[in-house]
Amino acid sequence: MRYQGKGVYSAVTIGKVQLFKREETVVRRTHISDVKQEKKRLEEAKRLATEQLETIYEKALKEVGESNAQIFQIHIMMLDDEDYNDSIQNIIENQHINAEYAVAVTSDNLSALFENMDNSYMQARAADIRDISNRLIACLAGNHQEQETRDLPDKVILCAEDLAPSETVSIDKEKVLAFVTAYGSANSHTAILAGTMNIPAIIGLGEEFLSQIKDGQTAIVDGYTGQFIVDPSEEEVLLAEKKIQEDLEKKQMLQRLKGKENITIDGHKIHIYANIGNMDQVGAALMQDAGGIGLFRSEFLYLENTDYPTEEQQFRVYRKVLESMTGRKVIIRTIDIGADKQVDYFQLEKEENPALGLRAVRLCLARPEIFKCQLRALYRASAYGNLGIMFPMIASTGELEEILSICEEVKQELDEDGIQYGNKVELGVMIETPAAAIISDQIAPMVDFFSVGTNDLTQYTLACDRQNPNLERFCDPHHEAVLRLIELAAKNAHAHGLWIGICGELAADTSMTETFLRMGIDELSVSPGYVLKIRDVVRNIDLSK
Ligand code: PEP
Ligand code: MG
Repeated sequence: MRYQGKGVYSAVTIGKVQLFKREETVVRRTHISDVKQEKKRLEEAKRLATEQLETIYEKALKEVGESNAQIFQIHIMMLDDEDYNDSIQNIIENQHINAEYAVAVTSDNLSALFENMDNSYMQARAADIRDISNRLIACLAGNHQEQETRDLPDKVILCAEDLAPSETVSIDKEKVLAFVTAYGSANSHTAILAGTMNIPAIIGLGEEFLSQIKDGQTAIVDGYTGQFIVDPSEEEVLLAEKKIQEDLEKKQMLQRLKGKENITIDGHKIHIYANIGNMDQVGAALMQDAGGIGLFRSEFLYLENTDYPTEEQQFRVYRKVLESMTGRKVIIRTIDIGADKQVDYFQLEKEENPALGLRAVRLCLARPEIFKCQLRALYRASAYGNLGIMFPMIASTGELEEILSICEEVKQELDEDGIQYGNKVELGVMIETPAAAIISDQIAPMVDFFSVGTNDLTQYTLACDRQNPNLERFCDPHHEAVLRLIELAAKNAHAHGLWIGICGELAADTSMTETFLRMGIDELSVSPGYVLKIRDVVRNIDLSK
């Protein structure tokens, strides 16, 4: 039997199927007479649930790192959320219904609300609401014992509808070969966890497969193609084994490139840096021997929070990244919020065309207090390493002038406060609007470097929404128009003595590496897993030919 889903981590495995069984608590609707007593029961259950979540957080911290563990702190906050609690209390008070049922109804309503949001990150949060509600119901029903670790037979392919964040923590990861789920999104915790564990994962296989498979059946999980093959033929097993072997050899071959230079046969050197979204990925960047961080998407700090991260909070993260990279270049991009990255507490107005809306630096200029808070944290952190600050979505010299004068203001304030900052902080502009590429000759004298965001440059040059799956065949980053704009920006960068890199997904496209080197691109910034692959390609290019 073959099933097709979406591979969210590219690797292959063969193993035995294990269905993930969830202990559901059946919720009954009962009438209550003592509202006060029911509310007391609810409070007690909330206290217990919070205690459990604190224990899970500590466990997750050790197993999956701080940023993945943070979700459980968010769960604790969600348990205290005003809307969530008001809804439960109202049902108990006004309808005289038991707390379990009030929680279940609230969970259904709120998770449906999240599921219907445009943004895939927010849609994935519906699972968090269901998770905390199930926990609360279990506590109300007296099922207090948190299952610390779920017993699994040795080395299995775990198949589930979807996995709640707390379930992913309770799983003994040593025993999981792969994750296969009926639902889920690339932003789901299953996908994130698979990435952290380096094991194959397929999501979105649809519900039917769960009723058609049994524990112990042999299956192949191909995270490259998204295929899940149950009871495979001998031929299919041989093919999968070949892929596993090839993967292994490729990995070993690439590991031998660690410590080697990014140099072409004819002696031309470039930098290969890593793109990261949070502190935890610094480890991966270092393990893959990245020469620096070419893009730290700082907005993730905001996306993972339920309120504006403070200057101090941000400072600590930036400083840690800089210190961990021990003097290597770290380019932190100021927040790129808006468009596909919506954050509730910013309370942005709904826009007709968010991709063309109040996004990135536009938002920063509209809310300078948020921008200044981030810049202060960045400059303060710059005393601890080799920092570059990069501005996204620049389209005019006027807005860049405003930004640069805010940077000066921030530095002056730090001087007045007697706070130290680095004296060699490079400032750069992302070339991700056609306008920025076209006027790159005017922008170049104002900054120290350019970095091309090919994801947005493609979207805006070709008028193709990058989020729309129906436009995939039109949204072609290899389009001549996109390449000409990159070439133009490279020419103007070099004419003014700037270096230029690429940090969009196209930087990792090995079929483009030689073209980029011939254009004079000085740096490629890619996901950590691609650093050694690109190094391998660079070392086989001969620009003299
Ligand atoms: C880009 O647009 O290419 C880019 C690197 O930024 P993001 O994908 O975060 O918009
Ligand atoms: Mg972009």
